Amino acid sequence: MSIDSQSIVRSVDGDRLQADIETNASFGSIPVDKGEGRTVLTGTPANRAAREYLIERMTDAGLEIRIDPVGNIAGRYDPTTSQSSRAPVATGSHLDSVPEGGIFDGVLGVYGALEAVRALQDAEIDLERPVEVVCFTEEEGGRFADGVLGSSVACRKRSVESALALKDEDGTTLEDALTAIDASGTDQIDARSWDSWLELHVEQGERLESAGKAAGIVTAITGTVRCSIEITGEANHSGSTAMNDRTDALAAASELVLTVEATSEELVEHTSESLVGTVGSLSLSPNAVNVVPGTVTLGLDVRDVQTETIETVIDRVRTTLDRLEAERGVETEFERPYNIDPIEMDDRCQNALSAAAAAGDIDTLKLHSGAGHDTMHVGTVTDAGMIFAPSRDGISHSPREWTDWSDATATTRVLTGGIARLAGGLSE
Ligand SMILES: [Zn+2]
Repeated sequence: MSIDSQSIVRSVDGDRLQADIETNASFGSIPVDKGEGRTVLTGTPANRAAREYLIERMTDAGLEIRIDPVGNIAGRYDPTTSQSSRAPVATGSHLDSVPEGGIFDGVLGVYGALEAVRALQDAEIDLERPVEVVCFTEEEGGRFADGVLGSSVACRKRSVESALALKDEDGTTLEDALTAIDASGTDQIDARSWDSWLELHVEQGERLESAGKAAGIVTAITGTVRCSIEITGEANHSGSTAMNDRTDALAAASELVLTVEATSEELVEHTSESLVGTVGSLSLSPNAVNVVPGTVTLGLDVRDVQTETIETVIDRVRTTLDRLEAERGVETEFERPYNIDPIEMDDRCQNALSAAAAAGDIDTLKLHSGAGHDTMHVGTVTDAGMIFAPSRDGISHSPREWTDWSDATATTRVLTGGIARLAGGLSE
């Protein structure tokens, strides 16, 4: 291990990281019997408190703060040896939560990033690039939109105007919600200008725990296709309609559900073990015990790290719908309104993280992410990588979400070493 790697490992202060995460957990905290929970929706007093504490801690570390019109926060560490015109290495995550969420999701990535910068400062590592600590707005989509909103604006996938015009259930716009907590700024945060991006996040699965590894190096984030399917038969009296005289929409839909399951299992066995296919919603009309079902609407969600296997499931669904029309006399409608492509993590970022883990004697596992993250957007405009910390029992989006402090510290060490390598502070 080189002297620089050793000083990084020593400089990451697990107690300082824990204190920040625990303070953040007090904002929007909710009473629970088991675990520790919080509700931090964008534009609420809890969100304001969390943002203000972050800005205070970034300022304590000497970072130069910028806030953009949708409330994304960036704090820049520009060590004297770096030429500030060079593109920065950016790192971070989000501070908003789902309703009744846990204390680590997003928070570990933001405060892990800040701790990484403090460790680089303490270890007096010379860097060739600035480092930016970033907190994205409304990652969870708990109040506005479908999520990953702030990163979609920072990556110029969505305009500031269309984001600010989004409304919550009560008709309050994002613009008004941000104004209410003084959270919108006039600075530019443009992910396209970053040299690279790293996000530390809790795994939200059990693979690291099962493998007994302290850190995961993410290889890819799955793509997601969601479809809405409507099957129409004929509603009729369940007593007086003979079996050979029915067009039962639910019986037809049942065949479709089993096709999705069988096709997905077949692909997992032979083609891609990361594929998952789910019919997660179903509504039935008229939904009465004495009526042959007339109409069924199904929601299908298919995810994988490769597009081809997702399309195989979709093709099989469409073929099945054609067959059901021919064999069962139902009518079908198919829509796919939600399409997000899979994205591979950049080799340079994966290598920097792997080298950092090796230098710190931290055992890692390579794995993909089945959940979406801000990195999904950032990875389309610059080189991106992700580190996962183990989630106890794989639980997240719940007050029972937990990551051991030793794992939080270990993964922050991996993040710190990764940043140092990408920013030109460590050669090996
Ligand atoms: Zn998250």
